[in-house]
Amino acid sequence: MSLLNARNLGFPRIGKYRELKFALESYWSEKSSEKDLLETARQLRRKHWQLQLLAGVSVPPSNDFSLYDHVLDMALMLGAIPSRFKKFDEQSGLKSYFAMARGSNDTPALEMTKWFDTNYHYVVPEFEPDQQYELSSTKILDEYLEAKALGIDTRPVILGPVTFVLLGKPTDPRVTRPAVLKQILPIYKALLRRLFEEGADWIQIDEPYLCLDLDSTSKAMYRDAYQELRGVASLPKFMLATYFGGLGNNLDLALSLGAAGIHLDLVRAPEQLIALFEKCPSDLRVSLGLVDGRNVWRTDLKKALNLVRFALDSLGPDRVDIAPSCSLLHSPFDLSAETNLDAEVWGWMAFAIQKLEEVATLSRVISGEGDYQQKLAENARSLESRRTSKRIDQADVKGRIAAIDDSMLRRKSAYPERHRKQVESLTLPKFPTTTIGSFPQTQEVRKTRSAHRAGKIHPKVYEGFLKEEIKRCVRFQEEIGLDVLVHGEFERNDMVEYFGEQLEGFVFSENGWVQSYGSRCVKPPIIYGDISRPKPMTVYWVQYAQSQTKKPVKGMLTGPVTILQWSFVRDDQLRSETCRQIALAIRDEVADLEAAGIKIIQIDEPAIREGLPLRRADWPQYLEWSVNAFRLASSGVQDHTQIHTHMCYSEFNDIIDSIVSMDADVISIECSRSRMELLDAFRRVRYPNEIGPGVYDIHSPRVPQDGEMANLLHQALEVLTPEQLWVNPDCGLKTRGWPEVRQALTKMVNTAKELRESAV
Ligand code: GLN
Ligand code: ZN
Repeated sequence: MSLLNARNLGFPRIGKYRELKFALESYWSEKSSEKDLLETARQLRRKHWQLQLLAGVSVPPSNDFSLYDHVLDMALMLGAIPSRFKKFDEQSGLKSYFAMARGSNDTPALEMTKWFDTNYHYVVPEFEPDQQYELSSTKILDEYLEAKALGIDTRPVILGPVTFVLLGKPTDPRVTRPAVLKQILPIYKALLRRLFEEGADWIQIDEPYLCLDLDSTSKAMYRDAYQELRGVASLPKFMLATYFGGLGNNLDLALSLGAAGIHLDLVRAPEQLIALFEKCPSDLRVSLGLVDGRNVWRTDLKKALNLVRFALDSLGPDRVDIAPSCSLLHSPFDLSAETNLDAEVWGWMAFAIQKLEEVATLSRVISGEGDYQQKLAENARSLESRRTSKRIDQADVKGRIAAIDDSMLRRKSAYPERHRKQVESLTLPKFPTTTIGSFPQTQEVRKTRSAHRAGKIHPKVYEGFLKEEIKRCVRFQEEIGLDVLVHGEFERNDMVEYFGEQLEGFVFSENGWVQSYGSRCVKPPIIYGDISRPKPMTVYWVQYAQSQTKKPVKGMLTGPVTILQWSFVRDDQLRSETCRQIALAIRDEVADLEAAGIKIIQIDEPAIREGLPLRRADWPQYLEWSVNAFRLASSGVQDHTQIHTHMCYSEFNDIIDSIVSMDADVISIECSRSRMELLDAFRRVRYPNEIGPGVYDIHSPRVPQDGEMANLLHQALEVLTPEQLWVNPDCGLKTRGWPEVRQALTKMVNTAKELRESAV
């Protein structure tokens, strides 16, 4: 039975078994038609609405579905289509949609970046001068009507206009965000009006930016935009959805926008409920985000109920909704799909479907319906079992953590001295070339790896296979002339999972996928207890690779912040504490690699920037513990051992000082997709160590044209000295095919050679 007060903000789109991913990939590779893809999408939407109703949600959201990304959907609805994609107009709508998302042979894709502090990436809208905004797609209306035709009443979700313009980026200083906002508002109005005409009396407007620090321009945009929307008759009432934090000092602003309801993230910021009550207009509906949409643990329903009762006392039963803290886009789909998970830990968890059932249970308390007492008792038992489990606290781990001292966070010598020793021991050319670690994972590699996982091939056969792949990969790198080689990461399914599987304190789901971008999903490991490393994790493979060549092979590790950031973490211990435990485990691995004769070790920290708290006031604390975790992991080596790190998609301006203080000898940064913007950071703060800005965008199937890479390197040399500059592609070679990788890397190596010859 569905409950009036049980709400949801968004549901995972990808499908219980990633049906959408497979449909997209089959369409992209022309194995199926556009019609097939759209049919799969339609079926998924229907199934997902039905599942939500079944769980107890009364009016599920619509337009939370997307074929690729909801920000891109919004850009398309508004006609925010950069001119380079106009040529796709003649072709089907999907062609231009996917061209914007993924690029095509001669047209670079739009950039992608992190959706707030999640591991989801959105496609960044571009605002060009002279862009004409116009209603270009009616997706939100179509999906509302699609549900209606199925007899399902939905609450359409729309990305709020201010959040939309703040997420996008002007391509030219002549374009200002307030001007873009002005131009898109009429389209919002038209869309909302049509929704109202079709019967939508409520919509959900997502404005997560209200939980961030806003400058005065942004605040003014909020005021102007909503004043204009408010002035229109016959619009649906709106639930202003805020999440990923508290409204804090934006509370007054949020309350002034004319919303009929407001959704609060009470998982991240429970304290804001009291602040709201002090100011709450008497007719405002309040949606309590009580179930964590960002983690996999069961909700403490007793605790949540306290907040529900508190809200009921102030607002009365008719004005309270119960919901997850944010869209369940960030949750795995259904715990019932997990049949192999550790039974004890399984009993502590909730995925999207179970989270909605928790929402329903809480909402039953409001309505007094059904057997919620039994559900509450069952919940209390599960929480008690987790609290008292012996599997969680490990005394030896706690002991080692307590013994960490400052000297463990420092390399033996400062960089200049290390540099001298490394130059001597490594004898690399100027502008050394390398890659970020992985090489193409062919069908065969994936197939063999899963056969191994399923226990279908003999371990010795698998070992032989991997060695063959590594050997071939080393040959390949020697052939095209790279200077620092890697083993290729063929044994790794995923850069975090691979390590998590070998560490204590982790469990893994089979189907707990979460969308990362487009068709790409990740299956985050689940950290439930104290972390330790029973034995070396990578040494065997790296050492084998090194045995195949005279050139240095770089050992590849994933850093503690990234392992933390890309896992579901414990909610019974500080993140910083969990991170330190991982750092100690990685430190042990670094020591073992060094002892095995590996001279260069890369500790990937692609996630360090995205781990930044959304509010600036919380930054210093995070930066301190995360940088220290990296230093703890990396500082145990001799001076002549060269430590690399790697980062993705980073807007570095804000945290450049912290990056400097990580004190890696070499940092490679993914950046060709934002056209070396990040180098601006280094214009301001001179980076003291070595650095390799990515010169080839790997996320797009297109191979760079002649001169493109040289161009990027020359730009880099404006802010870096020749001694500092490394030449490498962006990360993610594993997603590409060998022929294109050969072409692109050969070009890259040649570009480096030309640079060596031309440079003084
Ligand atoms: N070493 C990893 C790779 O090359 C790094 C991936 C990443 O930066 N996300 O795949
Ligand atoms: Zn990367």
